[in-house]
Amino acid sequence: MRILLAEDDRATQLRLAAYVKEWGYHPVAANDGAEAWTLFEKEDFDCVISDWMMPKLNGVELIQKIRRSEREAYVYVILLTGQTEKHNLVEGMEAGADDFVTKPFDKDELRVRLRAGQRIVALERRLAERNRELSMFSSVASHDLREPLRTISSFLGLFEKKYKGKLDQEADEYIEFIMDGASRMRTLISDLLAYARLEAHAKDFEAIDMNSLVEEKLQFLARAIDECQAKITFDSLPTIEGDRTQLSQLLQNLIGNGIKYRAEGSQPNIHIDAVARDDTWVFSVADDGIGISEDHHETIFEPFRRLHGTGSHYSGSGVGLSICRKVVKRHGGRIWVESNEPQGSIFYFTIPRVVQGDSNHA
Ligand code: ADP
Repeated sequence: MRILLAEDDRATQLRLAAYVKEWGYHPVAANDGAEAWTLFEKEDFDCVISDWMMPKLNGVELIQKIRRSEREAYVYVILLTGQTEKHNLVEGMEAGADDFVTKPFDKDELRVRLRAGQRIVALERRLAERNRELSMFSSVASHDLREPLRTISSFLGLFEKKYKGKLDQEADEYIEFIMDGASRMRTLISDLLAYARLEAHAKDFEAIDMNSLVEEKLQFLARAIDECQAKITFDSLPTIEGDRTQLSQLLQNLIGNGIKYRAEGSQPNIHIDAVARDDTWVFSVADDGIGISEDHHETIFEPFRRLHGTGSHYSGSGVGLSICRKVVKRHGGRIWVESNEPQGSIFYFTIPRVVQGDSNHA
């Protein structure tokens, strides 16, 4: 395990380096926060032990920079605190420290805390590796499943053209079932692919005017809106920092669901709004559709969970809201629904007003 030691007190730094070496780790020392940051940007580290009070860049500022960095692998951070900073511990932990040790530190205490850190780093790496494998697997699987499905669909199309109405009524019915199955399979595969691609295609955050993004989505959904004469309104929405493609997908899924899950024959009314609450924006997408019973308010955000599945006239794969949850989480917010079935639903999601700058938290 490579450990970056950020400590301006020479004696403490030497002591730390000697211990860390003795325990079998590889220490790299920096004399202040700024030097530590330069080293961190250039090299790979598994762990950082940082003093709090340092010239140029203090420990908390260093940790904030580390957490916002594009570094893919998780880095475990231990903050060294003096007696005076101890009461500010919450600030250090909120900046992203994993653990803290009070100075003057006890050798054995630091050793066991580092060992715990090493376990967490190993677990994080394994998890990241599994996630990568899984998303690669689903991406490849979805691609490979598409190919035979295309063959089925195109020959089925030809078959329908040539034989529908020429065989008996039962055969016509079978053709319809197969067409419907193929179409559902197509939706499932493309949604699965969208879910798997979400992380791989993550982009850097930029300033996004949510008014124009909603306008774009309304144009994209124009056909569905026209079909049911949906009325979609929105109040003056803020500009936020985020991943354009992902936020666009989020709005599309929520507005699309508002249109889709309407009572038969009704004209949906959907309203999009955002209010500032402390340091977050709380967005809401409210519809007057069929609503969602309270038992399902959590489960609908899990992949492939559908309340209106096969047999109902609502098509879908059950992936849309799980994508929404992933997107909101990456933006440092949360998503939930409030609904009094059968009186419509309001989907809420929060986005920090303070720039997170973290484009790597998929
Ligand atoms: P899909 O729409 O493809 O089924 P989602 O993940 O978007 O998948 O939604 C999961 C389930 O949550 C849907 O199948 C539906 O039962 C329910 N749901 C989602 N949005 C709404 C809504 N606005 N009104 C009522 N039910 C909804």
